[in-house]
Amino acid sequence: MAMSSPISRGIYRQLSSILRSGLNAVPNRSNEGRYRLEGHARQFCTGRDVQPNFGILFDIDGVLMRGRRVLPEAIDAFKKLTDTTGSFRVPVVFVTNAGNSLRQDKAKQLSANLRVQVSAEQVVMSHSPLKIFEQFHDKHILVCGQGPIKDIAKFLGFKNITTVDEFRECFPLLDMVDHKRRKSAPCAFEAFFPKIEAIVLLGEPVRWETSLQLILDCLLTTGQPSTSPSIVPYPHLPVLACNMDLLWMAEAPMPRLGHGSFLLCLEALYQKITGQKMKYTVLTGKPSEITYHHAEHLTAQLANSMELDSPLRTLYVIGDNPMTDIYGANLYNRYLASKPINVLKSTTMTTKLSATQGKKSSAYLSTISHIGHPHHPGEVPVDHIFEKCAESMESVLVCTGVYCEKRSQHMTDVDHGHRDYPFTEDLARPSIIVENVYEAVAEIFAREGFK
Ligand SMILES: [Mg+2]
Repeated sequence: MAMSSPISRGIYRQLSSILRSGLNAVPNRSNEGRYRLEGHARQFCTGRDVQPNFGILFDIDGVLMRGRRVLPEAIDAFKKLTDTTGSFRVPVVFVTNAGNSLRQDKAKQLSANLRVQVSAEQVVMSHSPLKIFEQFHDKHILVCGQGPIKDIAKFLGFKNITTVDEFRECFPLLDMVDHKRRKSAPCAFEAFFPKIEAIVLLGEPVRWETSLQLILDCLLTTGQPSTSPSIVPYPHLPVLACNMDLLWMAEAPMPRLGHGSFLLCLEALYQKITGQKMKYTVLTGKPSEITYHHAEHLTAQLANSMELDSPLRTLYVIGDNPMTDIYGANLYNRYLASKPINVLKSTTMTTKLSATQGKKSSAYLSTISHIGHPHHPGEVPVDHIFEKCAESMESVLVCTGVYCEKRSQHMTDVDHGHRDYPFTEDLARPSIIVENVYEAVAEIFAREGFK
């Protein structure tokens, strides 16, 4: 567990690069160097007398949707958030741990479901931050998940992609669990198949046994399952994983298994077989700070598009899962509360973070080390990406999804979080609990004095 590891300079350079540019942002040189989202301003109110200095980050499943069903309170909530022309009155970003679609497709889906115009620049998928990890983009990756995973991997920047299904076709003797799917003949090209260099886990696959077997084969053979190494290679190939949700809420009365459950199986099997702990090179999606950091930046860009006079002071996160939405928001709030921005803005190159800065910043700094391997312990590069930082992040829990008061005793007594994000009660405790998303928006407006 990397609870005390510092940030690497390289990782922050990557962060600054992508956060400055945004995933689809274009620079607007005429606007004093500020960045504006292309074609975005039209869709927001500008020049209002009363302007918000807060933004809202929405989880989707269990907050706005239950499976394919739109929650009626969500429609009412978005009426409140938009004016008569359909323009957003408040900067709004959607932060989902879903990973089975492209963000532009998710935006279209949200537009249809919520009856408002949502742009791709308002959507953060669990895999969105992988775009900044360029050091893996030229590697031959094995990608696991369902839906258009090859298109998603390409969109993120990966160039050399093999899906689990394609890999299975090339190595037909590996997948033996389902007797009816077994193939008797080996593939003549197995020995010539280019070595897998990294594993990318986008979301839960359909046939878990197939993916578990083939991923383990790659980890145990350094990406060459046509061989049988005499010793277990360790450390193993880089593993980049998105979405740690153990459970999520669909139409069924009880929560469903999520990608976090699949990761739990993979970790357990790897450890049981090798005696070693499976390590993640990258973990994205809530509750990771890199995802909140990215969402914060997009919200600031939206505020720019709306030409708000003052920077956003508070960001509200509305979610249904205490161990992802709420935990991540509180973890990120700790980082914001430590006010590194005020220290960092006044320096020019790098600064040393001392251990005496305490838990607040170290919690953020430690967990963000999940996004890469630190090479420069103690050094944090200074960058103006921090200039747009909000002052605080508040967490709002709704009772329409994973969290339900009827199940609350059961849900809060057990640690459902990911292994690398240890449970603490204060991190899983929301600032506000309300019944549904409409009440959440109403409560936020009341607190902010916004009508
Ligand atoms: Mg949810």
